[in-house]
Amino acid sequence: MRHLLAAHSVDTLLQHAQTYVDFPLSRDASLANWKRATPADATLRLGAHAQRVVGLQHVGGQPPLGRLDAVTLRDLATLSHQRGNGTLRMTPWQSVLLPDIAANAAPAVLAEMHALGLACDPAQSITHLIACAGSTGCAKSLADTKADALRLADRLPAGVDVHLSGCPRSCAAAHCAPYTLLAAAPGLYDLYRRDGQPGFGSCVAHQLTIEQAADMLDPLAHPARSPLDA
Ligand code: SF4
Repeated sequence: MRHLLAAHSVDTLLQHAQTYVDFPLSRDASLANWKRATPADATLRLGAHAQRVVGLQHVGGQPPLGRLDAVTLRDLATLSHQRGNGTLRMTPWQSVLLPDIAANAAPAVLAEMHALGLACDPAQSITHLIACAGSTGCAKSLADTKADALRLADRLPAGVDVHLSGCPRSCAAAHCAPYTLLAAAPGLYDLYRRDGQPGFGSCVAHQLTIEQAADMLDPLAHPARSPLDA
């Protein structure tokens, strides 16, 4: 949508969308400048959290790098029918939420999601990584971002969020991640740090292997840490 709006006006998009539906589309001027009052808290996508309705919780987990196969999706749907309200909510962070779980059933639902291979604990490094389809799924990708992200997971410094992108289109991240590895060649990435600059931020290193990127991320993310802490 971001790329569409960069190339076409809102009115053009609306006219085109109108050809697909049999009810009148309209623009609500009051929504033109709407912004969320408080930033979305991405940590709420993992684990069990209370909903507004007392006694109900939503339970969330992240399939590794956003890949859900049909069997797992079916199992999640069954879990939601059995324990929740029968719906699944996909989040912008490549994770899934099951809403309306009775609080006393939440631990069992978490355990079942874990057994299905979803990461439900923010301490798991895989929850700090997102990657686009990569070269196994997209002709534009210069690297196998999914496989490289799994390698990076083993060496990722704690609490550092990284986005791997096979090209500048950034399909995996609508937001600007704190750190982005942009593929330059198979297995090699340019490292960007978010700093308010447009796009991925500022490039801090070129042509890094995954191992070199992991070594650079720790001092970048924790500049004040003493070598004695290591
Ligand atoms: S970011 Fe680029 S390489 Fe990755 S899926 Fe999108 S178009 Fe393909």
